[in-house]
Amino acid sequence: MSRAWNFSAGPAALSAEVLMQAAEEMLDWHGCGMSVMEMSHRGKEFGSIIEQAEADLRELLVVPADYAVLFMQGGAIAENAIVPLNLLGKNNRVDFIETGSWSVKSIKEAQRYGDVRVAASSRDETVKQGKYTSIPPVSEWRLRSDAAYLHLCGNETIDGVEYFAWPELDALGVGNVPLVVDMSSHILSRPIDVSRFGLIYAGAQKNIGPAGLTIVIVRRDLLDQAHPLCPSAFHYRTVAENHSMYNTPPTYAIYIAGLIFQWLKRQGGLAEMEKRNIAKAHLLYETLDSSKLYVNHVKHCVRSRMNVPFFLRDESLNETFLEGAKARGLLQLKGHKSVGGMRASIFNAMPIEGVHALVDYLCEFEKEHA
Ligand SMILES: *Cc1c(COP(=O)(O)O)cnc(C)c1O
Repeated sequence: MSRAWNFSAGPAALSAEVLMQAAEEMLDWHGCGMSVMEMSHRGKEFGSIIEQAEADLRELLVVPADYAVLFMQGGAIAENAIVPLNLLGKNNRVDFIETGSWSVKSIKEAQRYGDVRVAASSRDETVKQGKYTSIPPVSEWRLRSDAAYLHLCGNETIDGVEYFAWPELDALGVGNVPLVVDMSSHILSRPIDVSRFGLIYAGAQKNIGPAGLTIVIVRRDLLDQAHPLCPSAFHYRTVAENHSMYNTPPTYAIYIAGLIFQWLKRQGGLAEMEKRNIAKAHLLYETLDSSKLYVNHVKHCVRSRMNVPFFLRDESLNETFLEGAKARGLLQLKGHKSVGGMRASIFNAMPIEGVHALVDYLCEFEKEHA
């Protein structure tokens, strides 16, 4: 058996230690004679799995008691509809900050349900490769103090743009507007102050676990402003009151996510993950910046630590680059089809050794093609 260095943006690499534990427990979980996939979600065995997963996630992110943690399905794209259906029942105004492909998708979906204002956008037509390379300055955000919520994408997985400072909504005169953030591709990559957010959502397959699970962390006072047409299985209050078991939850994905949470705790928690993620990103960006062949266009202060898009200045070398990478066991480096080029995703499960292997290849390939 051999494990390659996998730079996929999602479904992404998972800790081998966790996958081995799952393999050991596959046929007979803790002596109960069945796989986690085969047990009732209402039985005491799965009850203990989901309870532990929630407790560990709360501990890692220090989630305050007045927030519900929900295990849902549908991914982040479904949340683009589920969030407005839950929050726009009383007042249908929502403001967005546009910083890349994923916030654009969220905007388009919300336009089906509400009065959407794009309060600021960093789209830049003059950039040839990828149209988003920055975050609009907060001073230019045209926010409405009567919006039901303000939505932004914490880490643009395709464009490689990440927020490292969250807006001070009080100072912007919109202190009452809940902040909703799509954290799909950087949740658990560093500590955050959950109390600053009204709602956080994240599809699991980037930095948490397998596809099929969506995590929602929502302040409990926001559970009661749903649109009457909001489907019951996606109604946050209904899901919260039923402890994520109104419908059958994605049990195996929750189990694996739970093992990942325990693995993160063994690594030293989110402060330790942040240190490692800073070191990994620094190494990779430094290599790109000191090269004549590779280029990343994103403004330095908002460069994503999780997703590093880059381009070869000579794009005719793209296929050769990818073939050489694959031959060395460096997989899934092709950029998203909408922007082209390359992308290295270096989530929690990617150790610095994997980034070293990539950097060695980058340098060697450049020497060969100088
Ligand atoms: C991957 C991703 C999505 C889409 O997730 P799905 O699981 O395909 O619905 C949305 N937002 C961000 C930031 C992502 O990285």
